[in-house]
Amino acid sequence: MQERALVRQIIECLKIESEQRNYAEIDPAVLRDFMQLGKKEPAKSANSIGNQAPVRNSVAPAPSPAMAANPSKEVNIVKADTENVPQDKLDVCRMPYEELEKKAAVCTRCRLHKSRTNPVFADGSRKAELMFIGEGPGRDEDAQGIPFVGRAGQLLTKMIEAMQFDRKEVYIANIVKCRPPENRAPMDDEAEQCLPYLLRQIELVQPKIIVLLGAVPLKYILGLAGITKIRGNWKEFKGIKVMPTLHPAYLLRNEAAKKDAWKDLQMVMSVFGKKYRKNS
Ligand code: SF4
Repeated sequence: MQERALVRQIIECLKIESEQRNYAEIDPAVLRDFMQLGKKEPAKSANSIGNQAPVRNSVAPAPSPAMAANPSKEVNIVKADTENVPQDKLDVCRMPYEELEKKAAVCTRCRLHKSRTNPVFADGSRKAELMFIGEGPGRDEDAQGIPFVGRAGQLLTKMIEAMQFDRKEVYIANIVKCRPPENRAPMDDEAEQCLPYLLRQIELVQPKIIVLLGAVPLKYILGLAGITKIRGNWKEFKGIKVMPTLHPAYLLRNEAAKKDAWKDLQMVMSVFGKKYRKNS
């Protein structure tokens, strides 16, 4: 009960800002960069790319029969009030940012700590209005300790720039902070152990919008499956507007899907008073 009370306390602390911005124009060259990146390159296996997520993680996971019947069905994966939450996990929920980052750097809560080179906490501004949440570190991210720095990361940067944001002014994090072996998807228990860090990061950053990149954050943040159906539809998490869209690694292999992702990102842009002007 004490754990549930603390989780409720965290939820109550989450706020969104409603500041409005003036309309801004998008540089068409930047948008072209986003659309062109990865084009005409030979298809590679997920692991050879060294990005954040293999294909299987960038689309909906294999659904259960019930899920197949209703792809938007809530799967109730996030168990923040589970009875098995270790006491030190609750401390994370009250930590200031620096302490939280230090704790993650030496975290051994789940098996992923055994194979990591560096924990990957986050990148960007702690005052960001726009937050991107991916799946977990890949090879390059594990080596550098920075999220989204591989090929998928380069595409994400182009996506951010196409939205007329600078990567430094948004906030980027993942569901798990340590690299799953062979770039596999995080297991449920790993995600559950790591989620309190991310929940506290969301609470501290207080973004106006969260963009979920792919099936894994969709599963663990919203408890939903079916990214290809759900993408482009506004959702809400703890009072924050959430836009699910496709993972950049998926877009690298499915160039035609970029137009769908761009539609999703334009919806996000509109909230910030930004819009793309074709003739600019
Ligand atoms: S993935 Fe998260 S919970 Fe697991 S060891 Fe790394 S920081 Fe800790």
